[in-house]
Amino acid sequence: MSVISIHNLVKTYPLGQLSVHALKGVSLEITAGDFVSVAGPSGSGKTTIMNIISLIDTPTQGQVFINDKDTAVMNRRELTRLRHEEIGIVFQSFNLLPVLNVMENVELPLVIGKNRMPKAERREWVNHLLEEVGLQDRLGHKPSELSGGQQQRVAIARALATKPRIVIADEPTANLDTATGERVLEVMKTINKTEGTTFIFSTHDPGIWERADHVVFLRDGLIESEKRR
Ligand code: ADP
Repeated sequence: MSVISIHNLVKTYPLGQLSVHALKGVSLEITAGDFVSVAGPSGSGKTTIMNIISLIDTPTQGQVFINDKDTAVMNRRELTRLRHEEIGIVFQSFNLLPVLNVMENVELPLVIGKNRMPKAERREWVNHLLEEVGLQDRLGHKPSELSGGQQQRVAIARALATKPRIVIADEPTANLDTATGERVLEVMKTINKTEGTTFIFSTHDPGIWERADHVVFLRDGLIESEKRR
């Protein structure tokens, strides 16, 4: 079963009198438990695809199906539910709240909104997540007291807090050195294998995309090649 299926996506950005054709007709099937890399050089359209499948942006043309449902016909409530319950997002720049410690950053999605969880249960779950990303000894640290790789692992734990079935990460290793990027990727891969969470991450780094089970290589807004392991 496809968790995400996109059909003939076209995205055009207006640029003054001109327009930029960021995606020129991209179709893709992502199945449950997939570990997918959206790869390609800078400007090939990776962020544009990631924003569309994260439901942050909409395509100019084409369709996006999540769990076999066309997102274009969903009402606001259904879209909000998908965003909050089915999809976790990891940002290139981590986006942690600097005044909160590691534990508080990860539990934040469970303190507010629809996914609220009672405190004892929440603490147990967050401890488990931080163990999974190898940061159980950093609970009380502020983000500024952590390395880039550790901050990104906190961001992964936070994205997993609401138990999403899909995690979408736009260039999660771009701000990290090679060894640290590989460690972050290893954490994602382990969670993919143990929990069955579908991961989709973009990268311009061949050393990173080679580790995916499904590599979608973009060039100039089109899929140039696609490889499944
Ligand atoms: P990548 O993530 O692979 O670097 P992007 O999806 O960011 O690629 O960009 C694809 C193309 O779309 C590039 O030519 C970029 O300059 C252009 N682009 C992206 N966002 C915008 C925008 N908001 N306005 C105009 N052009 C954009």
